[in-house]
Amino acid sequence: MIETIAFDGDDTLWHNETLFSVTQARFADLLAPYGPFPDVPERLVATEGRNLSSFGYGIKGFTLSMIETAIELTDGRIAGRDIQAIIDAGKSMRDHPVELLAGVRDVVEGLVGGPRRLMVITKGDLFDQESKLARSGLADLFDAVEIVSEKDEGTYRRILDRHAIDPAAFLMVGNSLRSDVLPVVGVGARAVHVPYEVTWAHEQVEPVDGRRPGVWELAAIRELPALLDELDAA
Ligand SMILES: [Mg+2]
Repeated sequence: MIETIAFDGDDTLWHNETLFSVTQARFADLLAPYGPFPDVPERLVATEGRNLSSFGYGIKGFTLSMIETAIELTDGRIAGRDIQAIIDAGKSMRDHPVELLAGVRDVVEGLVGGPRRLMVITKGDLFDQESKLARSGLADLFDAVEIVSEKDEGTYRRILDRHAIDPAAFLMVGNSLRSDVLPVVGVGARAVHVPYEVTWAHEQVEPVDGRRPGVWELAAIRELPALLDELDAA
């Protein structure tokens, strides 16, 4: 019996990566007059990768990585006003409305008041994530919220311990194999993978053929209630 269901936030409950993609396209446009730079996306991804250990995940780190990439690509020629435009693009990401994925509200509301505890386990900048959860309008529906800087086996073990959750009774729902599925299965719990339309380069892992034990893949979160019925009946 699943007693606790935890949902990932970005690209599971609400859209996130599409906003980064749009901003990245604006960033490439902004650099065009200094170019041509055919490899802006690759260079930005490389800068982000180098900066993760300094800035972590989120909008602030992404904005700083855009500025650093702009300085590198233009060999320092980027104008102050264009750096300001990059900062403004980062701020407008923060101000962007939080848009829930289709079916999310129905599914979560349908689980409220049921036999299971509901959690959010989301990774990233504390300020970003608290703000997104508050603006999502979903915050009151969850029994517990965990905002973490990395989702690995150690993180999941600590969260399960702290909430006295038996891994065998825990189910994680998320879009990232790397963050929401593999480490969860690694600690003996179960996971539902609901892929999003875009996967950030730093969340990609090599696909493994065949079905993994303890992992279910759904095309959309709307299919979750039927899966839960199936698991309860098994
Ligand atoms: Mg996610």
